[in-house]
Amino acid sequence: MTDRLPGFSTLAVHAGAQPDPTTGARATPIYQTTSFVFNDADHAASLFGLQAFGNIYTRIGNPTNAVLEERVAALEGGTAALAVASGHAAQLVVLQQLMKPGDEVIAARKLYGGSINQFTHAFKAFGWNVAWADPDEIESFERAVTPHTKAIFIESIANPAGSITDIEAIAAVARKAGVPLIVDNTLASPYLIKPIDHGADIVVHSLTKFLGGHGNSLGGIIVDAGTFDWSKDNKYPMLSEPRPEYHGIRIQETFGNFAFAIACRVLGLRDLGPALSPFNAFMILTGIETLPLRMQKHCDNAKAVAEFLSTHPAVSAVNYAGLPGDRYNALQRKYSPKGAGAVFTFSLKGGYDAGVNLVSNLRLFSHLANVGDTRSLVIHPASTTHSQLDDAAKVRSGAAPEVVRLSIGIEDKEDLIADLDQALRA
Ligand SMILES: *Cc1c(COP(=O)(O)O)cnc(C)c1O
Repeated sequence: MTDRLPGFSTLAVHAGAQPDPTTGARATPIYQTTSFVFNDADHAASLFGLQAFGNIYTRIGNPTNAVLEERVAALEGGTAALAVASGHAAQLVVLQQLMKPGDEVIAARKLYGGSINQFTHAFKAFGWNVAWADPDEIESFERAVTPHTKAIFIESIANPAGSITDIEAIAAVARKAGVPLIVDNTLASPYLIKPIDHGADIVVHSLTKFLGGHGNSLGGIIVDAGTFDWSKDNKYPMLSEPRPEYHGIRIQETFGNFAFAIACRVLGLRDLGPALSPFNAFMILTGIETLPLRMQKHCDNAKAVAEFLSTHPAVSAVNYAGLPGDRYNALQRKYSPKGAGAVFTFSLKGGYDAGVNLVSNLRLFSHLANVGDTRSLVIHPASTTHSQLDDAAKVRSGAAPEVVRLSIGIEDKEDLIADLDQALRA
């Protein structure tokens, strides 16, 4: 090795991994075990008291998962990470460290449909209030700040329309309010956007999507930027006050710039329990090795498909930030210059029925509720992911009745265009 700082593609293959010290295995082994033997009684006690790092029980940590955590932390430019069972588990564990009943999170209105449900129903039942703001109107975030605000939550590239969020402008609102900015970076992946470079304090992912990349394993991850001061004004007592279950240590004081990742592990994951299976960690690690290659191909294909659709007579509009006339094109060139991602929407002149017909007539595209697979995917949000929302909320979140969402895979773009062409004609 040289002194050079490794580039993104090198980190995607190597970060966090070494040949297995006992067997020489070059690929990261799947440590399919629930628990780990202690060296002796003192070692056990120090692990339980957080005086030493090491493996205890796979709900709290596992060596395969640790490689995944180190790799994604390196790719995002964070200090540490915590892998969990799903993207939704990541969101839950993050907010559990920050929120008490009566506290508020300000969330961008343009979110993954599942996140809108999670915030609106499950979080509300915990007594966590959600103030919705419009990512296209930065002042709406400022107006939503109250003394109870504990965090701001946005997506870098927002579902379903692939719109690009002005992360720096919202980070400035968060800084002024003294609260962390949490960025869901699922649709961009760190290959396209590194939110920490733009002021994010915490990054979350659904690993299920582009990072894993093959549509075969659920997972989620939390990345700690190491930038936020959790002790200020005692606003985040989980991090700043003595923890009775760990001999009275204070998490921020003891763990410094990776305190948030530690809190998520030893308070969140330990007690809530959504641990990632080591098998899934292995599958996702394998996927991440090819992230840069896949992501570029996803973006290049998506741009070609968006260009094709934008001239098609059955199509009334295409929302793809990579197209020159798109309202998010300037933000895309600033935040995501390598490409605009692979998830976007377009509108059909024939409305709701045309959307339903299209998904029925496509052959190569799979009709399902996922994104970020090697395979190209299609869904009609108004009849599926966003069907629970009322009409006004559907329109506000980019899922009007005539809208179809695509997640473009890594097949040959000519085949994708031919499939769309035949289905639009049918
Ligand atoms: C899929 C997704 C989630 C939820 O992730 P799961 O792994 O399905 O729990 C959250 N945010 C975004 C942007 C997603 O696409």
